[in-house]
Amino acid sequence: MEFNEKIRDLAPSKSIVFMQKAKALQKEDPGIISLAGGEPDFTTPKRIRDEVTKQLEKGYTHYTIGPGLPELRERIAGKLREENGAEYDPYGVIVTPGGKFAIYLAVRSLVNPGDEVMFPEPGWVSYPSIVEASNACPVPVRLSGSDGFRLTRAKLEEKVSEKTRLLIVNYPNNPTGRVLSRPEAEELRAFLNAHPDVLLLSDEIYERILFEGAENVSPASYPDLRDRVITVNGFSKSVAMTGFRIGYLATTPEIAKVMYKLFQHTMSCTSGFIMKAALTALDCQEEIEEMRQEYERRRDAFIGALNEIPGVTAALPEGAFYAWVKFDMPGLDSEETAAFLLKEARVVGVPGNAYGTDETYVRFSFASSMEDLMESAKRIREAMEKR
Ligand code: GLU
Repeated sequence: MEFNEKIRDLAPSKSIVFMQKAKALQKEDPGIISLAGGEPDFTTPKRIRDEVTKQLEKGYTHYTIGPGLPELRERIAGKLREENGAEYDPYGVIVTPGGKFAIYLAVRSLVNPGDEVMFPEPGWVSYPSIVEASNACPVPVRLSGSDGFRLTRAKLEEKVSEKTRLLIVNYPNNPTGRVLSRPEAEELRAFLNAHPDVLLLSDEIYERILFEGAENVSPASYPDLRDRVITVNGFSKSVAMTGFRIGYLATTPEIAKVMYKLFQHTMSCTSGFIMKAALTALDCQEEIEEMRQEYERRRDAFIGALNEIPGVTAALPEGAFYAWVKFDMPGLDSEETAAFLLKEARVVGVPGNAYGTDETYVRFSFASSMEDLMESAKRIREAMEKR
């Protein structure tokens, strides 16, 4: 059977593979705890669910023509201005079925065959695959745990070439939990100013999940960068709306116009009743804050418990909801360590190699109940102690 070679050769998404695997294993053994998928365990706030019901009752179920409801694009531009200090024209906003499709739409619309797209590693599993599916070359920029995965201009300069078209950054970061601090944002800015042909895609999907007042800089807040920054965000993580599939990108109206052509031919439009739910979600500040506080409580308890286990170290994440945990397991790589934890502790995490690291890290999501987190930490301790 002949396939498009790029698609045939794509690696499956390990986040999704491990979420599926955990579900299948739990059917056999309900005691298995899955901390694999980055999916909030909270029920979507009631106001949002009520809005969907209302729209369905009204029969608001047809095509919505355009790159998103005008009132939603206005609200998103307003949100980016007020909360992120980023001035975007509402005509530069495209509302997409999930943030992931916004990333695909952006990358696919911006790169030509052979162009290079840089992204820091450890990094989210789908960036290299989206770049490959767009016929471009993924260029990882390796960050190191020894300096807290700090992003520096020097590290970016090492990998840039005349073929570099795009740089993708993701802060707060999946999987490391690092935010884009002001000094790192300045490094990024200096790099971009030295390479005027490189565009930046800033994936800010975890932007509302920040701990202890950590500051996460949105690169589009720099007026000298704004026109070259495509900001991607969505509702899945901050408002527990993963199943709604709704996200967005913001760019200049000129760039959005080109991306919208591909959008017409692939998605047609984003669902109208889901966009109405997103409008309500933009009003759910209290609910968002309640969930954030609960993530912070879980972070403190889970990371604290993990760090008490011999051979286990985890830095306190500044944002997002992942514990990025280093295991001292002589002779075992991250894949083998995750398999060991599944077998001996009946806890599913995603091996670090999914995020492009050779070191023995496993990622656990703490968007899971406190009970599951503390039970997981206890079982991991027991498994590590009897090794
Ligand atoms: N982003 C989440 C994760 O990293 C959900 C799965 C996915 O879209 O990759 O687990």
